[in-house]
Amino acid sequence: MNERDFERAAELTERERQHALATHQRHQAQRRSATECEDCGQPIPKARQLAVVSPYCVECQSINEELNRHERR
Ligand SMILES: [Zn+2]
Repeated sequence: MNERDFERAAELTERERQHALATHQRHQAQRRSATECEDCGQPIPKARQLAVVSPYCVECQSINEELNRHERR
């Protein structure tokens, strides 16, 4: 391996590391339960926040699931 190859490999590793980190942080952010429903703004009960990772209240969640089911067909 010559010096340029080594530099490229190091650069690639750094980029991969940054990418992995960014992906991880994005996933962490998505996993955070919202305290208020993203759709209707209703406060989401603490028990639901802990039980389900979802930015929606029960009602909007079921509506969204219904819509997704139809979209996938
Ligand atoms: Zn809602």
